Amino acid sequence: MINEITQFTPPNRILMGPGPSDVHPRVLQAMARPTVGHLDPSFVGLMDEIKELLRYVFQTENQLTLPVSAPGSAGMETCFVNLIEPGDTVVVCQNGVFGGRMKENVERCGGTAVMVEDEWGHAIDLNKVEDALKANPGTKALAFVHAETSTGVLSDARTLCEMAQKHGALSIVDAVTSLGGSPVMVDEWGADAVYSGTQKCLSCAPGISPVTFSSRATDVIQARKTPVQSWFLDLSLVMNYWTDGAGAPRSYHHTAPVNALYGLHESLLMIREEGIENSWTRHRRNSDALRAGFRAMGLDPLVSEDIHLPQLTTLKVPEGVDKPKSRKILLDNYDLEVGGGLGGLAGKVWRIGLMGQSSTPAHVILCLSAMEGTLKEMGIDIVEGAAVPAAQAILFGGDGSGGSSQKAA
Ligand SMILES: *Cc1c(COP(=O)(O)O)cnc(C)c1O
Repeated sequence: MINEITQFTPPNRILMGPGPSDVHPRVLQAMARPTVGHLDPSFVGLMDEIKELLRYVFQTENQLTLPVSAPGSAGMETCFVNLIEPGDTVVVCQNGVFGGRMKENVERCGGTAVMVEDEWGHAIDLNKVEDALKANPGTKALAFVHAETSTGVLSDARTLCEMAQKHGALSIVDAVTSLGGSPVMVDEWGADAVYSGTQKCLSCAPGISPVTFSSRATDVIQARKTPVQSWFLDLSLVMNYWTDGAGAPRSYHHTAPVNALYGLHESLLMIREEGIENSWTRHRRNSDALRAGFRAMGLDPLVSEDIHLPQLTTLKVPEGVDKPKSRKILLDNYDLEVGGGLGGLAGKVWRIGLMGQSSTPAHVILCLSAMEGTLKEMGIDIVEGAAVPAAQAILFGGDGSGGSSQKAA
């Protein structure tokens, strides 16, 4: 058996699921550069630049801003294990899969999770959160997901952070899917602990989780009575590697994923070159075009216009469609990956991502025509020939005939 194993050559997919998104060749090339030691003087300079670029995408001046050497889930745990101690109460909002994971985290830290639940496909109800904070004085933190990737809903992070502050609680924000694709204004919102991931709108390879902590949160970490139960994610130890202490040189904590960090540096640099505001606008325009196209075809997005995510559209699967088969046709015939439903939405929706490098007019047009071809092949009744022009009208203006003069607008 082992003698039959040869080099792995992955297929060239177009990634339009809930992450990972397409990774730009510039990022892949950066990751192929020679490996240096994780304390090499040249690498220490790169680490500082990554922190600076992360502050830019998070829109923050927070000193404690760094990439955790593990995926988004580890960024989530970093926030909970460092801030929550046994006996703490945390108000956790749940309107999809990821809020449920926050509850797990609180309980494993020995805390009590007070759940505020909303229907899947709806935004977090601010009144219910206010009631929960009032009913639980002394709440340590309010935790919520900004962009729910399981449903495609964006919640009002600014107001939620303000509410937490008004009640003397910290805010813990999941910005895994929002960062880079929707405004994440850490300082303006007064958010205290925010975590993200590299493989969604940052369009880097999976496996790293950027996090940022306010000075308020940093003070809480320093005043802990109990040690952080995770040795690997304990920020007081990790910081000895990511910052220069008082005169002390940086010291080994774990071996950083050196080449993966080259990739992160390059992907953040690409966002800085584009301008983060332009990235938000691009995500919004492409998503508007995709949704207009689907509607023209006769398909329905799950989430209403005012709260839908620009980086991920949940699309209701029409009656009679064999869901796994539809995704297999998209993959086999078009090399196109889209996501299926998660949890309560399993089998009911497709999840179509337009994240980072996967948010381009070319992705929109390909997805619409591939979906049209696939549903036709499956004998599903749809409006033919209307989707692409509807999207083109939004992308390029005019009658959608493809006049390129307005493309740059
Ligand atoms: C993807 C995702 C995560 C988990 O990130 P991983 O990198 O898969 O660990 C957490 N929260 C949200 C909202 C996500 O979309």
